[in-house]
Amino acid sequence: MRKLALHWKILIGMVLGVLFGVLLSLVSGGPDFIKDYIKPFGTIFINLLKLIAVPLILASLIKGVSDLKDISKLSQMGGRTILTYLATTLTAVTIGLILVNIIQPGKSISVETRNELVEAYATNTQEKQAVAAKQKEAGPLQALVDVVPSNVFLAASNNRNMLQVIFFALFFGIGMILIPSKKVKPVKKFFDSFNSIILKMIDLIMLAAPYGVFALLAALVVEAPSLELFQALALYAITLLLGLAIMIGVYIIIVRVYTNKKMNFFMKGIAPAQLLAFSTSSSAATLPVTMECVEENLGVDEEVASFVLPIGATINMDGTSVYQGVAAVFIAQAFGLDLSLSAQLGIVFTATLASIGTAAVPSAGIVMLVIVLAQAGIPEAGLALIFAIDRPLDMCRTIVNVTGDAAVSMIVGKSIGKLK
Ligand code: ASP
Repeated sequence: MRKLALHWKILIGMVLGVLFGVLLSLVSGGPDFIKDYIKPFGTIFINLLKLIAVPLILASLIKGVSDLKDISKLSQMGGRTILTYLATTLTAVTIGLILVNIIQPGKSISVETRNELVEAYATNTQEKQAVAAKQKEAGPLQALVDVVPSNVFLAASNNRNMLQVIFFALFFGIGMILIPSKKVKPVKKFFDSFNSIILKMIDLIMLAAPYGVFALLAALVVEAPSLELFQALALYAITLLLGLAIMIGVYIIIVRVYTNKKMNFFMKGIAPAQLLAFSTSSSAATLPVTMECVEENLGVDEEVASFVLPIGATINMDGTSVYQGVAAVFIAQAFGLDLSLSAQLGIVFTATLASIGTAAVPSAGIVMLVIVLAQAGIPEAGLALIFAIDRPLDMCRTIVNVTGDAAVSMIVGKSIGKLK
């Protein structure tokens, strides 16, 4: 076991977790045993990953930016990062919309199934609607206001405020670049070694990864909804999965064309982060591992990875973008609504913004979907249709979210000569 690469260990943990979950579902008291005695270890593992997220962003971004030496380098890298992220997000929504219009999975849902689903998940839908309503109440520039924290400690005290922490770290780093290097030396040294300690902590947490994902997947299996629901929604799930697979193909092609790195190199290098994204459904929780993979396996300079990845984990969600395109139109189809081209273009716009605003945590995508639906005039009760299978699909879209960040960091790295 010792010599086995991490992604294999994680994969074995996942398979064993699923088997264990299936096995114990068959035994009376088995599911309760998993909920009481196995699931908590999965939760502890996710907590450990989340615990490290804020210090990691602070340490790596401050170190990354202060290593840059001058501001023009920062704005060059920043501009490229944001533009590439925007381009991949738009591609993702478009792929989702094209597929859902061709396959038309919503048309296969019968009226009875639709009513059953809407009824079964009505309360969940209301909860998500309430959360989304709060976000909608805010003015158009609220998202911008939210980026700037009024108190750094408050910002750092909630993982959902990742963008605020990023803002502070960038601002702090810029301050460091602007004063003579002699003066900042002690602080720089502090953040350099702080960063090394955090990276070591991540190594330690990763030793527990195979066991953590075992616990997470075993718990997921015993808590999963019935197979019938899956069948009713199979075509929707297939459409979305196809879109996600195409998106991975897009990354492989752009990485190949732009950096000349082979598919195997890219996919093998990012595999541990993908497996963890699948198990945790959270790109924020996966961030520490994404960084490690991108720097150590994909050869992206630390300076680039520590800048591009934390930003990507918060604003670049291509998997979520494909999902929002597919899900919105699927729901419209299921309700017998025909969406005009302009309504669909509206979806491209709101889904792009929504995916930027989506928190990198499980089920965040479905909350933001409420806003996309409302904007396009699609009944929000339709959320209930897709609720049952949202979690497994969330796991899959998170893989794409993380892979997209890795691909973009390679491209930005290559463009400024920081890719090995
Ligand atoms: N779980 C996704 C992520 O963390 C967000 C989503 O729900 O789509 O990347």
